[in-house]
Formats: sequence, structure tokens, C-alpha cells
Amino acid sequence: MNPAAYAVLNLEAAQHNLQKVRSYAPGSKIMAVIKANGYGHGLLRIADALQTVDGFAVARVDEGVRLRRAGIKSRIAVLEGFTCTEELDELTLYQLDAVVHSFQQVEIFESRAEQQQIAIWLKMDTGMNRLGFKAAEFESVYQRLKHCSIVHQPINLMTHLASADDMHDATTLKQIHLFHNTVATIETDLKFRNECSIANSAGIIAWKEALSDWVRPGVMLYGISPFPENTGKDLGLKPIMSLHSRLIAVKKLAVGDKVGYSGTWVCKKPTTLGVVAVGYGDGYPRYAKVGTPVLVNGQRVPLIGRVSMDMITVDLESQTQAKPGDSVTLWGDDLAVEEIAQCADTIPYTLVCGITQRVQLVEKSNPASK
Ligand SMILES: *Cc1c(COP(=O)(O)O)cnc(C)c1O
Repeated sequence: MNPAAYAVLNLEAAQHNLQKVRSYAPGSKIMAVIKANGYGHGLLRIADALQTVDGFAVARVDEGVRLRRAGIKSRIAVLEGFTCTEELDELTLYQLDAVVHSFQQVEIFESRAEQQQIAIWLKMDTGMNRLGFKAAEFESVYQRLKHCSIVHQPINLMTHLASADDMHDATTLKQIHLFHNTVATIETDLKFRNECSIANSAGIIAWKEALSDWVRPGVMLYGISPFPENTGKDLGLKPIMSLHSRLIAVKKLAVGDKVGYSGTWVCKKPTTLGVVAVGYGDGYPRYAKVGTPVLVNGQRVPLIGRVSMDMITVDLESQTQAKPGDSVTLWGDDLAVEEIAQCADTIPYTLVCGITQRVQLVEKSNPASK
């Protein structure tokens, strides 16, 4: 029998989704974003499934080091860069690209003339106000970095979009224009051209203007929509992850019986209750509302009562023949993770990233799990 809560990973879907990225951005190189353990799917597993991309991006130095130690030879960019000389040493040792976003980093470079060279992505803050240099200071920082012997030339240039998932928000075009206008003022080297990168998944799908030398797809590679109003399926993507468990108890409750912690659910009618072995301890969202759909034997039934650490409860009115051991799907091909995210007032990114250690990850193409 399968373990109580387990996630099946369909890695063929990764290839399909990568093809989708290529069709949206045919002229761009692809930097697959696999931070946060490959959005919860497994860092090395996803790197392996996406071998044919032009590069990878991770958030932290240690994620990049793990990829190199596992033998990944592709370009790897570290999106948060480094905050100290020790991290810079690791980046150079493992030949990881550093995102450069702060004056502190520039000063470290200027003090380290003797080191082996490092490729960088100079980041412009075009309005997100998270990482990056303001447009007004960008050119002077660029000139300083051009004179750092440790910095491999040409310098790559990037920015990040704050609201690309809202197709009606004018912020995105403003950001893109500010980026291009500022880059145009930089004296570009005649021998080389600076390569640029702007688009995340939402930028790739919804904003042609955001396509440039490199695109940085994350969530769409996992088959998930970056937009609140639709699902990956609507966009022709295929989800990699599905989350499953099973019923562990079925019982009859009478009118007035209360279900779960704090007794928030009170039976208004005689109820067939199913108890499913999955909870927030597995990464199922604690704030999933009453009525959140759950598939029992492939049929939708509503969640009732509170989500607890190891269990949820569902109303089996439409499935009175269901019994302990029957299969349950929490999200996957036939129940979009985007829909569950909406029911829990969150975004699907948090659900896949939040799968916990005790959930066994099983590869669909290779049933021997990793
Ligand atoms: C996470 C991230 C991405 C990928 O975003 P998605 O919405 O998952 O496509 C791209 N660029 C940067 C800088 C990021 O932090």
C-alpha cells in the first residue's frame, strides 16, 4: 500500500511545460528557476528533468553549491547574490553567477582584485523595491563594476517584475520601459553586448515586451499558472505534482454532532464523515475553507471542519460506499492546485513549496521513489 500522504511527480510534464516556455519565448535563452527545493519538487530531480535549459536560477548560495556538487555543469545564477566575502568565495569556487544588487557587494568586489573572475547579473530595481539599484544610480554602478578585475565582462543586466500577473496593471510596462531606457544609456562594449533578463512566468505569458535575451520561468515549469484567474491547464501546462492520501476512517454522525477542533462544524443532517490522512503537517493548507474540494475515489467531496496536523475531515454524502483505504487526491491533474490555493486564500506557489519532509515524493516515470 502507498504511504499515507505522498506526492506523485510526473517529470514528463516538466518537458512539456518547458516546450511551452520555448513557444512563448522562441528567441530567448531559458534560465529555469528551481529555488526553494525546485518549488518543493526536489532540487536535483527538477534540475535533472530540465537538463536541456540554458541555465538555472536559485535563491541562495547553498542551493547553487548543491547543484554543482551533484555534477550540474550549466550556468547557475544565485538570485540573492552574496552578503559576505565567504559567500563570494563559494560563488567563485563553484563558478556560480552572482546577482549584484547592493553597494556593499560592489565594495567587496573592489576590495578583491586578485580573485578568479565571477559572472554577474547586475540588477536594476525598476519599482518592486526589493533588490537592485535605482535607475539613477545604475550607470555609475555599472562603470564601477566594469573596472573590477574580478568581474567577468560583459556584465549581464536584469530586473524583476512586481505585478506581471495582473494583465491590466500599467506598472509592468513602466518597469520594462525604465529598464530598457536605462540600459540604453550604458556605454556598451563594442566587442560584447550585455545580455538582459526581465520576465518571470507571468512576464513570459502575458507581456511580449518583457521577453529579452534570457527569460526566467519558475512556476509555469511546474505546470502551475502564475495568474490568479486561471489554471495551468487553461494555459496548456501540465502539473508535475499531485498530492494523495487515503481515507482512514468512515463514520455516521447525527444532527448536532460537532466535527474537529473547536467543533466549528456542526452536522445539520445525518452525515457520513470521512477522515483523510493528510493535514498541515504534510503541507495541506491549515486555512482551507469548509467546502474546499477533495477527490475521494476520483469524486469531489467537500472539506468540513478544521484542518488539523495529520488529518482532514470530509462530507461523504455523495460517497456513502467509501471505506478506509480508499484513495484520496488533494490536488493534481483532476483537481487544480490553483483551485485549492483559492479556497485557502493563498497562491499555489505556497502549496507546492510547503510540502513537508514526511510526504514521500514518488516519481511517476520511475516508481522507485527518490
Ligand atoms: C522566483 C523568481 C522568478 C520566477 O518566478 P515565477 O513567478 O515562479 O515564474 C524569476 N525571477 C526572480 C528574480 C525570482 O525571484
